[in-house]
Amino acid sequence: MNIGDRLNKELRTIVDFPKPGIMFKDITPVLENPSLCRDLVEVLRDSASDLNIDAVVGIESRGFLFGLPLALELEVPFIPIRKKGKLPYKTVSYAYDLEYGSATIEMHQNTIQNNWNVLVHDDLLATGGTAKAAAELVKMEGGKIAGFSFLIGLNFLGGKEALSTYSKNIFSIKEY
Ligand code: AMP
Repeated sequence: MNIGDRLNKELRTIVDFPKPGIMFKDITPVLENPSLCRDLVEVLRDSASDLNIDAVVGIESRGFLFGLPLALELEVPFIPIRKKGKLPYKTVSYAYDLEYGSATIEMHQNTIQNNWNVLVHDDLLATGGTAKAAAELVKMEGGKIAGFSFLIGLNFLGGKEALSTYSKNIFSIKEY
């Protein structure tokens, strides 16, 4: 079985969570399968190995789970992006629109050096709003977007199109 099918088999889909109309992809069963996790990290690493990555940025909170092991594999720094108010030191912030209301994400200042090639990682790509906001933070700090990587891409929600102005390297292990 290929890696996308193995991932698909372990994902739990919860209908109408956290609100009606959402098919939530729960990755917690995946985390209970160490050999699958190891293989997923390898596939993420291989997808980025030609991109000359200087740092991996991971988006709270599920983007931390595979983002740090991916950074370790690439032997580059891992930089967390968190929701407003969670990071303790000096931060840069970016506010973006959600379907209802808005959200703000933050990253510590001076973690990215000028012209670094940065890979943005999260567990899942839906509309692309979150990854786009992360890309804006990276750019504000002088980094370049080398690409995006996800475990899961819900392509019917248009995330790839939303991110394509930042980079053409948009990789998801399992696409729907
Ligand atoms: P978006 O900004 O619309 O691309 O949404 C991506 C973010 O929301 C990621 O951090 C995901 O973890 C989370 N997310 C959005 N839709 C889902 C879903 N159907 N299942 C699991 N997580 C989701």
